[in-house]
Amino acid sequence: MTWRHSRRARKLRLALVEILGSTCANFDGTCAGGLEIDHVNGRDWEPRKMSSLGRVNRYIREYESGVALQVLCKSHNVRKQRTTEE
Ligand SMILES: [Zn+2]
Repeated sequence: MTWRHSRRARKLRLALVEILGSTCANFDGTCAGGLEIDHVNGRDWEPRKMSSLGRVNRYIREYESGVALQVLCKSHNVRKQRTTEE
């Protein structure tokens, strides 16, 4: 991962968050942390195993092909993942 790549990944991710509305989809008084991209209906791949650039490129491809994505704050994203696992 070169410096140039991680900078590009951050820019692409920011652009996608902006397209998705720049606000937590579950916005309420308990929002906390940075905004993250979330799959509304879950996903079958592991983002942690990909580079940041590979990951954001994948999100963009999914968005373009009609996969439902949303923006969640870190706090709501963590809570959602917990309820999905239960
Ligand atoms: Zn939130």
